[in-house]
Amino acid sequence: VEFVKLAATYSTVNLGQGFPDFPPPDFLKEAFVRALSGENHMLHQYTRAFGHPPLVKILAQYFGKLLGRDLDPMTNVMVTVGAYQALFCCFQALVDEGDEVIIIEPFFDCYEPMVKMAGGMPVFVPLRPKAPKDGKLMSSADWQLDPAELASKFSERTKAIVLNSPNNPLGKVFSRGELELIADLCVKHDVLCISDEVYEWLVYDGKEHIRIASLRGMWDRTVIIGSAGKTFSATGWKVGWTVGPNRLLQHLRTVHQNSVYHCATVAQEAVAQGFQRELELYGKPESYFVQLPKMLQQKRDWLVQSLDAVGMKPIVPEGTYFLVADISEFKSDVPDVPDSDEPYDSRFAKWMVKNKGLAAIPLSAFYCGAHKNNYNHFIRFCFAKEEATLKAANDILQKWKLEKTSP
Ligand code: PMP
Repeated sequence: VEFVKLAATYSTVNLGQGFPDFPPPDFLKEAFVRALSGENHMLHQYTRAFGHPPLVKILAQYFGKLLGRDLDPMTNVMVTVGAYQALFCCFQALVDEGDEVIIIEPFFDCYEPMVKMAGGMPVFVPLRPKAPKDGKLMSSADWQLDPAELASKFSERTKAIVLNSPNNPLGKVFSRGELELIADLCVKHDVLCISDEVYEWLVYDGKEHIRIASLRGMWDRTVIIGSAGKTFSATGWKVGWTVGPNRLLQHLRTVHQNSVYHCATVAQEAVAQGFQRELELYGKPESYFVQLPKMLQQKRDWLVQSLDAVGMKPIVPEGTYFLVADISEFKSDVPDVPDSDEPYDSRFAKWMVKNKGLAAIPLSAFYCGAHKNNYNHFIRFCFAKEEATLKAANDILQKWKLEKTSP
């Protein structure tokens, strides 16, 4: 919230908060307009609390195909107000007072307060970076869990683990081996998995997004979370969903029914039509889910080059629309304040937006309080931006680099 406000006040180029500045696809906007101004005026009224029937039906079909199982639209799918509310429902419904929830660092920032609001205790386990091979840029794949350290976090108090693959902020796409390690521990300790997969379509370089729910023993203990905002580049619509077994979703429905009740009908109708189109074009070149990662991979490569050229070393992401970069070479411009409580990267990001007009988010924002200073020389950029925005960011960085090197 703090950095979004700073970006609104000072930035000329905003690569901070995660949203595209390009429009959603025409077919989606047209579906919204049709829903809004068509004959069916019931689309302006309440719909089913747990999801507009056309949307839960198509989500059940689509995810049933991906997971290779028959899904019941009424009990295995629930529509939420964005993935954010899906997360909130999960924690409120599944975590009881004193339960421990394992969170992999760096993590999407709301997990920690949401676990605490449910009375749970977050237990953190970090992804640990390994040095890349000589001369190579670091990749998000170089950030890995230590299997022994992960295993040590599971106990009889553990209720759930939060998995976010592809991961915000690093862009890490967990490999099959890494997911099997997590799955085996979940099965061994009878632990649930809250699987935040909002960036499921955004994987690059031929990588595959593997759904942990498809691994042995995991369907019955996993809630999958998705977002139409990320899926169709329409974050402001706030349509999200959960997919999972009825034994878990029934409790999410209780929370949902007694808090927001349902999400805007017109938006749900348009997202349903978007998925209908995507099902018909499944795997074809015209599919948005095929086109979007291609477009974003180019943007990623562009920002990687641009950062590398000025010495703000990028960690090449395998997925998402985020990229984390090392600010060490720019430290001389923003001197450290000894004994300050504020992590260095946070001060750096504030200085950058105020003095250079370029907004980014410090990596320490994605760590718990005790670990904020462990990785405090990185900032996160969002590259889901128009070419002109990325070019403007490049111009700022080039100019800055020149000022640094000229006497
Ligand atoms: N999970 C992750 C990992 C995210 O990055 C975001 C959005 N930044 C969300 C959930 C929330 O998604 P939505 O906008 O659909 O609420």
